[in-house]
Amino acid sequence: MKMGSFFMRTSNALKGYSSSSKLLLLCTLSISGGGVVAYSESRSETEHPIIDAHVAPKKKVVVLGTGWAGTSFLKDLDASRYDVQVVSPRNYFAFTPLLPSVTCGTVEARSIVEPVRTLIKKNKGEIKYWEAECVKIDAANRKVFCKDNINNLVGRGEFSLDYDFLVLAVGSQVNTFNTPGVKENCHFLKDIEDAKRIRLSITDCFEKAVLPSLSEEDRRSNLHFVVVGGGPTGVEFAAELHDYVQEDLTNLYPAVKDSVKITLIQSGDHILNTFDKRISTFAEQKFSRDGIEVQTGCRVISVSDKEITMKVKSTGEICSVPHGLIVWSTGISTIPVIRDFMEQVGQGKRRVLAIDEWLRVKGCENVYAVGDCCTIDQRKIMDDISAIFAAADKNNSGTLTIEEFQDVMDDILLRYPQVELFMKKKHLLDFTSLWLDSQGNERKEIDIEGFKQALSHADSQMKSLPATAQVAAQQGTYLARCFNRMDQCEENPEGPRRFRGTGRHKFLPFRYKHFGQFAPLGGEQAAAELPGDWVSMGHSTQWLWYSVYASKQVSWRTRVLVISDWTRRFIFGRDSSRV
Ligand code: FAD
Ligand code: MG
Repeated sequence: MKMGSFFMRTSNALKGYSSSSKLLLLCTLSISGGGVVAYSESRSETEHPIIDAHVAPKKKVVVLGTGWAGTSFLKDLDASRYDVQVVSPRNYFAFTPLLPSVTCGTVEARSIVEPVRTLIKKNKGEIKYWEAECVKIDAANRKVFCKDNINNLVGRGEFSLDYDFLVLAVGSQVNTFNTPGVKENCHFLKDIEDAKRIRLSITDCFEKAVLPSLSEEDRRSNLHFVVVGGGPTGVEFAAELHDYVQEDLTNLYPAVKDSVKITLIQSGDHILNTFDKRISTFAEQKFSRDGIEVQTGCRVISVSDKEITMKVKSTGEICSVPHGLIVWSTGISTIPVIRDFMEQVGQGKRRVLAIDEWLRVKGCENVYAVGDCCTIDQRKIMDDISAIFAAADKNNSGTLTIEEFQDVMDDILLRYPQVELFMKKKHLLDFTSLWLDSQGNERKEIDIEGFKQALSHADSQMKSLPATAQVAAQQGTYLARCFNRMDQCEENPEGPRRFRGTGRHKFLPFRYKHFGQFAPLGGEQAAAELPGDWVSMGHSTQWLWYSVYASKQVSWRTRVLVISDWTRRFIFGRDSSRV
């Protein structure tokens, strides 16, 4: 009792302090009590802008979505410069890479979420948040229409917001490829609600399987867990489930331990096919040792509440198997509100919303998009080659000298990132070697044909960015920096020169920096692909995974919760209560 009230008082007392004073206080407390707790949340909440009555009204920024892209934008935006409103149906940010762990109770749902209101409070400007879903964007009139998200109201409240700038960060939805029965009979794994539902269903399957009235056949069907999709999410879920069964459930349900089966269905030839070949082979071998059945080259054609039907691609053979639970994780597609918006801005024929290298929606002024809801439509250098040549040829001689060429090179490298990749791939340190003719003799000047030839293969290096949290977060941060320096860069543009127009681009284009990717494979083993073609697999990689994911948490609160969940699991195992 005494202890409890001590903690209550301490935490109440702490709530009143700014973050920096919390650091001091905590250090003092913890030094006197033993270990030092590192606590370093940045930014003070006390500075507020002084409002000047003579300045023009602030531009209205509306942000849709509070996932990886939306929150990283809001975190870095100087909200005191704008009138910022955020709309999202979930009033929290979810750390999606740990969602598979939530499905088996390795980590609790609340440990990986952070309330939006806590996040926006840290900004030095004011950000308004509305818990609602955007149902329509009116691009011509610069308006968004929203429906609030409070379920227990009779009839949902509707409202609209005007914007000067709109930031789309609404993410994506699961792609079912219109397979019949998938929506009705499969679990998805996209957000917290999904993960919680899967956790309950797993327990249900086991409780049902041990009921005395069940036949052996039904028992086996109930304990057949099917994962559709051999990408990182499907693989990680299968591995988590296998660990959960082996480490916890077989002890709790010994009578049915031999009836459990996990099947992973993949339409391609290998699982984890976006990873290095070594990783995908390692994963396949590990799953085969663990008894997880991997069926590659199979396409699911329909799902019912009892059976899943698939077609073996090579033979055309169709087979149906009974299941207890299916998790569907086969990639993503565009959400309806973005589809409708794409029609409005002339992108109706595209599959994904196209943005340019500055993250502006193509065909629509003042609308930006970040994260999974869009893809960068990188400009081909070959489309601009004549304009670049004309800009480079300062003396209008119809040819370029090496000096003229070098003069535009920096701008080319900034504007067309594929050129840099092309040079790296060909191990060219600079462009001078492009000035050799087929006999290896150096050319003094080149004409447009030679110029085209030198760069003709650069566009082959273009590839679209993956739909990952890493990309989404970097785009959000980039866009916030652009917004923060809008006026400054209007006067002093920092971007590359415009080859097809005059002057320079206002900002440097977005550049993605890849820090590598992980695939946890269960049994305290993981695989990682790190920059520079570096591959690491096994137990030590799992420890790297723990440290990276602990460090990537958005707040110290979630970091502490996640680490304590992992510790709890090590000591006591996972909790299979159906609550
Ligand atoms: P999201 O994070 O999905 O956020 C979308 C936001 O928009 C949400 O807040 C949602 O509520 C809101 N929203 C939706 N509709 C509307 C609407 N109509 N109006 C207003 N708001 C709306 N990536 C990695 O890099 N590493 C990983 O290990 C990794 N693991 C993953 C594991 C799982 C299980 C999943 C599902 C994804 C994983 N990803 C991982 C991918 C990563 O989660 C996504 O790429 C990332 O979430 C994309 O960020 P986003 O902001 O575009 O979308
Ligand atoms: Mg010239």
